[in-house]
Amino acid sequence: MQDRKSCPLFVDFVRECTKEIVCLPQDTFDYCTTEKFTNCPFYLLIYKKVTGCEYMRKCPVYAQFKSGDFDKLIEITKQYCLFDKFLYCKRYALEKAGMKVPVELLPDGSTLNGSTS
Ligand code: SF4
Repeated sequence: MQDRKSCPLFVDFVRECTKEIVCLPQDTFDYCTTEKFTNCPFYLLIYKKVTGCEYMRKCPVYAQFKSGDFDKLIEITKQYCLFDKFLYCKRYALEKAGMKVPVELLPDGSTLNGSTS
């Protein structure tokens, strides 16, 4: 069982995960610096604790989340990005169809500013 108090990818105040995950939200430190890191979808993906969407490492929607929204992002990744749930993601469907994917589009078809497609 994990006995760490902070993420192994948080090294000298730097998120080493940014070498693999291109579009992280700015504010994840509540997770990086505490035992909550075991719930971080990027930690889970990089350490192969779970499988996930092939586009997760460069999905631009993650960077759209503002300070304090990381809990919401984690809920979305549980519902859509991890395991095989990405098959229900609107972004994934557009990407697979070769269509342009709006940056602000969320997996359920809504956007961060509240509109729906
Ligand atoms: S908790 Fe997540 S965001 Fe923070 S360093 Fe670890 S993998 Fe990166």
